Amino acid sequence: MTQVSPFWLAGRPATGDGEIVVTHPYDGRVVGAASVPTQQQVEEAVAAAHAVRAQAAALPLHVRAEALAHVARRLAERAEEIARLITGENGKPLLWARGEVARAVSTFRFAAEETRRWSGHTQRLDTEPAAAGRLAYVTRVPHGPVLAITPFNFPLNLTAHKVAPAIAVGAPVLVKPAPATPLSALLLGEILAETELPEGMFSVLPVPNDRASALVEDPRLPVVSFTGSGPVGWAIKDRVPRKHVTLELGGNAAAVVCADADLDHAAARLGLFSNYQAGQSCIAVQRVYVAREAYEEFVPRLVAAVEGLVTGDPWQDTTQVGPLISVDAAERVETWVKEAVEGGAEVLTGGVRDGAAYAPTVLAGVPADARVSCEEVFGPVLIVQPFDGLDEAFELVNASRYGLQAGVFTRSLDVAFQAGRQLEVGGVVIGDVPSYRADQMPYGGVKESGVGREGLRSAMEDFTYEKVMILTGL
Ligand code: NAD
Repeated sequence: MTQVSPFWLAGRPATGDGEIVVTHPYDGRVVGAASVPTQQQVEEAVAAAHAVRAQAAALPLHVRAEALAHVARRLAERAEEIARLITGENGKPLLWARGEVARAVSTFRFAAEETRRWSGHTQRLDTEPAAAGRLAYVTRVPHGPVLAITPFNFPLNLTAHKVAPAIAVGAPVLVKPAPATPLSALLLGEILAETELPEGMFSVLPVPNDRASALVEDPRLPVVSFTGSGPVGWAIKDRVPRKHVTLELGGNAAAVVCADADLDHAAARLGLFSNYQAGQSCIAVQRVYVAREAYEEFVPRLVAAVEGLVTGDPWQDTTQVGPLISVDAAERVETWVKEAVEGGAEVLTGGVRDGAAYAPTVLAGVPADARVSCEEVFGPVLIVQPFDGLDEAFELVNASRYGLQAGVFTRSLDVAFQAGRQLEVGGVVIGDVPSYRADQMPYGGVKESGVGREGLRSAMEDFTYEKVMILTGL
């Protein structure tokens, strides 16, 4: 019998009027189910978040910090169980699922620390004679309850990236997880329910997308923090232009390999991080531009790195590349690669689909307008191309609608800073892949990759506004 996980309604477990059945992408077997709230229950969750907002904002910092630290501790204690839950629902190899849990632990740990540092400041106004005797006291105040909409690819950590800063600033949060992977967000709800947070402070609502649209438009939820695909994210922003909307969207991340780089290191890192999570990461490397003088030497190393990856059963400790989220997703990648090949691309390795699995693939000679180049593949496909001169390399990176992160392999500090200045992205990684992300750093995109920033401190600022009190007669 399939176990049906309850959802979390204002901090309490509840069951509704339907179920989402969750299947394992590797073999299609049922791994669990999530109870789906009724419209009435969704309304109760929103009303509870709205009602508790003032109490939440006034919650002492030590209560918030202790709740966040508790979540970090419990995630760490239950790490292996949760990693297995993530592998079950998402299909990512245990290697990456364990890494995701570790990152969620540090996300909550950082949040607990940032909470203790969350403080206002004063600003003297007597810089002008007219303001003599006046002082400004500036604090940050939550906009109100946060609607957190999350994708399937990091079902725990991307939820943590929204829940932890919301609690840190004293904002109630309603999580709407991806339908394919609701189980780890529901487990996070179970752990949050062990804390002393007030009733109504959090709900986890695995509702279908049409009901999520109603949540987006609900005026009692002034903040929408969305991570997912561009079309859905931008449509949300268009629908509620007056809300505080953060969009963490997709990309087709690029890396530049300069002639002075350590080619073995670059090949190993690029080979792995174009394929980790089967390429289903918004900052998975998709395009690699290599200095022409190093190209002939570099490409065989890259292909060898990709061919050396361990693919297959995500439950094996050594597996590095598992299936995509669904057969449909793998078929889409297959179609895009075929199109590129028909346009003249050469398959250096891979290019084969088996059910939901797609073999790690390297393509050369890809036409600039092929979808594997200019769209987000979200699959284990890397394109490699030579460049002549740094200006050309940076132009190629920037010739994208997206701009999340870019990586530059070089030993030159000058080149590093030039990249920092010229690349139109939210983050430039020097000496490593664009796929690097530390959870406390500001993270987000430009262009079609989104608006706003995550990372603990940045998200805390995004969820709040500055309020000033002016003290007179001092
Ligand atoms: P998706 O856009 O299909 O879904 C994301 C979430 O939005 C899900 O919870 C989904 O149910 C919900 N949703 C769908 N339609 C909705 C609607 N009309 N109203 C409200 N909610 C709705 O994305 P996905 O396939 O789950 O995830 C993959 C995408 O996420 C990729 O594009 C990837 O690049 C992006 N992503 C971005 C980041 C980042 O930090 N920038 C991180 C991870 C993933």
